[in-house]
Amino acid sequence: MPLYEYRCEQCEKQFEANQSVYARVEDTECPFCRARQATRLMSSFSSNIVGDRKPGFSELKAKAMTEERMQRFAKLPPLNPRPIMPPPNGISESDPLSTEGSTS
Ligand SMILES: [Zn+2]
Repeated sequence: MPLYEYRCEQCEKQFEANQSVYARVEDTECPFCRARQATRLMSSFSSNIVGDRKPGFSELKAKAMTEERMQRFAKLPPLNPRPIMPPPNGISESDPLSTEGSTS
């Protein structure tokens, strides 16, 4: 379960909570004052990604590889192919039962 950081609006204390991804902020109870007025803080992990630093060469290359992979994936045929059509006419002629009846 991911670890979330919260700040209580009631007592202005920060606390961490192990919650499921589906947990709502409104249901998060402050361990100090039991108020449910917490606001979820951005984790340090996500704040590290955001920055005004220009991406390096390796990051650009990784981005290009990802885009190339996405394009290759888009060229793939759809998961549900068209149903196989029965061969056009000629089925009854090659049917052994029908030919047997006509010859005798
Ligand atoms: Zn509180």
